[in-house]
Formats: sequence, C-alpha cells, structure tokens
Amino acid sequence: MKKGYNSTRSKDINVTASQGILQGLAPDGGLFVPNFIDQINLDPTQFIGKNYGEMAKAIFCAFLDDFSAKQIDDSIQGAYYSGKFEEKEPVALKKVNDRYFLELFHGPTCAFKDMALTILPYLMVESMKNVNNQQKIMILTATSGDTGKAALEGFANVPDISIIVFYPKDGVSTVQEKQMLTQIGDNTCVVGVDGNFDDTQNGVKLILNDPQLAAELANANVIFSSANSINIGRLLPQVVYYFYSYYELLKRGEIQPNEKINFVVPTGNFGNILAGYYAALLGLPINKLICASNANKVLTDFFKTGSYDRNRDFYKTSSPSMDILISSNLERLLYDVSGADPDAVSDLMAQLKNQGAYQTSQTLMEKTGLFYAGTANETETAQAIKAIFDDSHYLMDPHTAVANKVYDDYLNETGDTTKTVIVSTASPYKFGRSVYESIFGDCDCNDYELLNILAQKTGTTIPKPLKDLDKKANQHQGQCDKTDMSQAVLDFLNDQVDKND
Ligand SMILES: *Cc1c(COP(=O)(O)O)cnc(C)c1O
Repeated sequence: MKKGYNSTRSKDINVTASQGILQGLAPDGGLFVPNFIDQINLDPTQFIGKNYGEMAKAIFCAFLDDFSAKQIDDSIQGAYYSGKFEEKEPVALKKVNDRYFLELFHGPTCAFKDMALTILPYLMVESMKNVNNQQKIMILTATSGDTGKAALEGFANVPDISIIVFYPKDGVSTVQEKQMLTQIGDNTCVVGVDGNFDDTQNGVKLILNDPQLAAELANANVIFSSANSINIGRLLPQVVYYFYSYYELLKRGEIQPNEKINFVVPTGNFGNILAGYYAALLGLPINKLICASNANKVLTDFFKTGSYDRNRDFYKTSSPSMDILISSNLERLLYDVSGADPDAVSDLMAQLKNQGAYQTSQTLMEKTGLFYAGTANETETAQAIKAIFDDSHYLMDPHTAVANKVYDDYLNETGDTTKTVIVSTASPYKFGRSVYESIFGDCDCNDYELLNILAQKTGTTIPKPLKDLDKKANQHQGQCDKTDMSQAVLDFLNDQVDKND
C-alpha cells in the first residue's frame, strides 16, 4: 500500500495529505486515515523545552507528507503567533488543586475548535498549491455551535474559498448564535436549520455525496470541502496540545520523564479525544483517555458494552457541543482497533446507517483498553461548576464540568493516582447563563447583561471576542428546513458567482 491517507472503508482510495485536506470526506463516505503512523519515529527528547509552535512543526512534518517545511512554518505562525490568540502561547495549562486544566479556549471564538480552525485555512491554501488546484472551494459545515463560528472566523475573506455554515436553529446558545450571525466577510453564509445537530450533519453528508449538486458546482468551477472534524486537517492540529501538556508538566517538574498521565476529554464527535489516541500511538506516555459524555451518552454505553446504538432519546443539554448521537470520528478508532480492516469498518457503518446500531466483537473491544468512559447529567454538571468555584474560585464551562465530574467518578471507581489533565474546551463566558445559574441561581436579565454580572460577581474578565457582542449588527438571516439544505447551498453559490462577475 502506498504511504499516504486511505479511506477507512477502502484501501484503494489513497491520497496525499493535501488531497485529503481538500476533499474532507473520502469519496466512498469513509474518513481519511494516515496509513503510516506506525512508521513515524518522533524522538521524544526533541520536545523538551520547545514552545507550542515548535512542537506543532515536528508533528505536522511527520504527517503532512507533501508539505514543505516552509509551508508548515508559515501556517503555524499565521495561525498561532499572529495575534489571533490572547496570550503568547495559544493554550494554557492551569493547576487547580490536584488536577490540571488544559485551557484550549483562548482563541478568536473562545472554544477549542480554534486550535484547528485557525490553522486549517492556511493548510487548505497550501494544499491547493500542492495539488495545483485551479478551482474554487466551498466549505460546507454543520455545527453544533462552536465549529461554525470558528470556521467562519478562520475562512472569512480567504481568497478563492467561500464558506456556508448550517446550525440547528434551536440547538445553540444565544451567544453562539449571535457570534455566527454577526460574522463579517463577503464569502460567508450562515443558515439556521429546523432540526437537531444530527439532522444538520446528515444533511451536509448528503449534500457532499449529491452528484447533481456536484455538477452544478463543477459548472461554476467550484468544489466542496469540509471544515468538520472529519477533515484530517482538523484532527492533526489537535494532536499537538496533548504533547504540549505532557512536556509542560515535565518542564514544571510535576511529572518525571516517561511517567504516564491521563487526559479527560469532554466528547461529542470523538475528534478531540481521537487526537489524544493518535498522540498515544505516536508514543506519548498516556495511561488513560477518559471519554466524558453528557446525557447523550452513546459513547459511554459503547465503551462499556461494545454496542453502539443511536436509537434513543436525544437530549438538549447545557453542553450543546456534545449533544450528538453519531460520533463520526469513532470510525477512525474502529479502523485502528480492527487492525486497519476496511471491510469490517464498512460493515459496521452500513449497520449504523441502516439500523442505527451495531455490535462490535469482543476482540475489537479488547483493543480499546486505553479508554475509560463516563457520563454526567445536568444536575451533576451544575454541581461540578459550583463545587470547583466555591472551593478554588476557578470557573469551568459546562463541557469542562462534564469532564471534571466524570474524572471524579473515575477516581472513586479506580483510586488511580496518575496525574491527570482535564481538557477544557470552552470559555465559561461562552455558556455564561449555565455557569452563572449553577453558581448563583436564576438571573432575571438577558444573556448579555448576564456576562457583565458574572464578571463582577466572580472577579474574572469577559474575553474580548465576547464583549459587547449584542451591540454588533447581524449579517445573516438565512433559515431553512432540514430537507432544503441543498437549495440553500445553490442560492449561496449563485450569490457568490454574481459577486465574482
Ligand atoms: C466540539 C466541542 C466538544 C466536543 O469535541 P469533539 O471533538 O466533537 O468530541 C466539546 N466541548 C466543546 C466546547 C466543543 O466545542
């Protein structure tokens, strides 16, 4: 097999990193996976004393086979060191009592999606050069709230690329919706869909595989691509912060060389935690990857029983970015633990599509031993936010709080004393009302006033991108039924063509 990225459903589909980044989804509906991870040899000593960008470079050079070192350098500088992030380093690791919080929310949209979506546009532009692409690209994205804004922010005004974002109309927070609707950029389009996130994501998958729509696009010299977490260009940047946390702990003397650590990851589409799994495959000393779910605990059940079943009630929770019943990136884990067996994966995915469920074999589940999984309900999530604030004056957003609660359960169950990093995926201000009400009770004020009150009462500051959001004017007002998403794409396409004439 040629070294490169092949589809999880067929080894005959084999592409370079650039092709994989541009295509997003493989033509057979599978996800691209690097078929050379076991050949990558990252000398661990090279990470000691390095900054985030230097670590990113080492990891990208290993994966982005057809990129030059300069293309990688320029992308890293543009994304992480050109003023898009609050601090000098894009992420922060904070110690709170006996645990460490890896804050991934200091980027332009205050959620961890920025870690990948600030760099993806750079990687895409370079990929276009690498494959000598003469077409224009339309990024098609389904969002449960955070991806949309991060992608819009990343792709706004990038030449030859346009972006359309679909979000579940009633499935995102006021602040999330306002962040998206106020997005500036002639090449951007935002549409609220009458449906939940799974409907929205399915709609996008159908559009991506719709030959008729593809023909209309080809006429306009445009191809689709995706900024969803299925894109390999989203996944790879996320591997970096697992390395960064490890070497930061080592630098601070919190761990000894080769000491294993745990990561707890608030999980929805399984992209973030899968990057942690890839870090482990690359040799990072990880003891457990703890997969934390909210009431939509399809993954908890999967890891406990080997049975994946989406036929269940869907709950809207205070951690909406994890309100997901089909965790797309799990397909990449299945591929790896099946011993890179595309037929086995195709079979499971066909069952998921047709019956909404599948049962894996015991041998397959035995290979998932690196994972532990748990869940937190709404009350437990709110209690976790209050408990940490009362005790340590640290503010967690609801997604991070789910992770924190699952870690408490893990500790109670196992007594494991391994040092543990809680991956913190959003600013508490992005989900201000849930955070405020968990600590102080009901607030009879609007969602924007609430942020000011939260700042006053906790002595913390509102991140700049969320300040005075209500004073910004909406730029988008599109809405559609879940069955009309193709039409919305066509309208946007015509609109873009008119603009370019
Ligand atoms: C997207 C998101 C998650 C879930 O990440 P996955 O990669 O989809 O598992 C968790 N928390 C926040 C705040 C997010 O935006």
